[in-house]
Amino acid sequence: MTVFCLTELDGDTVADPSLRALTLARGLAAGAATGVAAVVFCPRDVVPAPDLAAYGVGDVFVVSGLDGYAPQAWARVLAELLGAAATAPDFSRHAVVAAGTERGNEVLAHLGAITGLPMAANCVAASRAGGGALGIVRQRWAGLLLEEAVLDAPAALLTVATDAVSAEPVPAPGPADVHEVTPPVSDADLVVRAVESSAGAAGASLATARVVVGGGRGVGSADGFAPLEELAGLLGGVVGVSRVVTSEGWRPHKQQVGQTGTKITPELYLACGISGAIQHIAGCAGAKHIIAINTDPGAPILAHADYAVIGDLHQVIPALIEALRGR
Ligand SMILES: Cc1cc2nc3c(=O)[nH]c(=O)nc-3n(C[C@H](O)[C@H](O)[C@H](O)COP(=O)(O)OP(=O)(O)OC[C@H]3O[C@@H](n4cnc5c(N)ncnc54)[C@H](O)[C@@H]3O)c2cc1C
Repeated sequence: MTVFCLTELDGDTVADPSLRALTLARGLAAGAATGVAAVVFCPRDVVPAPDLAAYGVGDVFVVSGLDGYAPQAWARVLAELLGAAATAPDFSRHAVVAAGTERGNEVLAHLGAITGLPMAANCVAASRAGGGALGIVRQRWAGLLLEEAVLDAPAALLTVATDAVSAEPVPAPGPADVHEVTPPVSDADLVVRAVESSAGAAGASLATARVVVGGGRGVGSADGFAPLEELAGLLGGVVGVSRVVTSEGWRPHKQQVGQTGTKITPELYLACGISGAIQHIAGCAGAKHIIAINTDPGAPILAHADYAVIGDLHQVIPALIEALRGR
């Protein structure tokens, strides 16, 4: 039994949500002969094999030669690996795990369509149940509800809620063997392909960034985001926004944090001019530290913040930029 883990990168390191997915995958593979195999889409010379070994990965399948992000092509590669690991047509209870990011969910949905296997999204726990089935617990309704279910399928496809499982390295890691994979893709698999990304500093995406500078209605206008962009750049992070901001057309939906946006798990979330509605908190509760900047000392976000600055963001952010530039 092999547990494959689609592993996303953040620059040249393993993205935090993928470390969490690897941790869940390791628990699933416990006691199995073959263990966890990471599947990484990147050039061979940048594959972070030691970092993967630190999280219990025994085999790394490196897929190079696919430019950009092509969800169906990525799923095709996973389907081939899954098929090669098992005796067709029975997948022998293997599993494919991915982080519950936009990419993880999209690729595994394609994999489900290609293989006909069921997929369970946003799992927080998974363990072997009787008869080879899996007992899973997964988030529903933006994490407001936990569902217990049994997944009985020849192979399990799971994504891991980005804010639920903590990333834990193994105490005594062994080496990881690196294998190169030639992608078995056709032109049809490449019809949808993102070759350019407008990701922020260091190529980090909102879901994987270590620092997110959030802006809400309090920012006041589309132009008002320039200082937030500058601050995010100085902190090596990216900008995230509330739904009011996307509804106003100040920023695109892909930057929205929340129930109907992206779930973030940064080390630091700096929430500026954001009230902290429950639908927004659903997306940022996984942040390790929250600092709020708000003029209202009664804003709900303060109940979730480690620190707060009660003040006008149009004064506080320039002061922060000034201080950081001075360093
Ligand atoms: C089904 C559903 C799904 C939703 N999904 C999402 C989602 O995914 N993400 C999301 O964000 N929302 C979502 N919402 C909307 C959510 O309920 C809130 O309306 C929204 O989050 C509020 O955005 P906001 O905090 O920017 O604005 P507001 O609630 O208007 O808050 C603005 C805040 O800025 C502060 N402020 C104003 N001026 C300044 C200043 N100069 N300096 C500092 N602070 C200032 C104010 O004190 C206030 O706290 C959803 C709603 C529904 C019904």
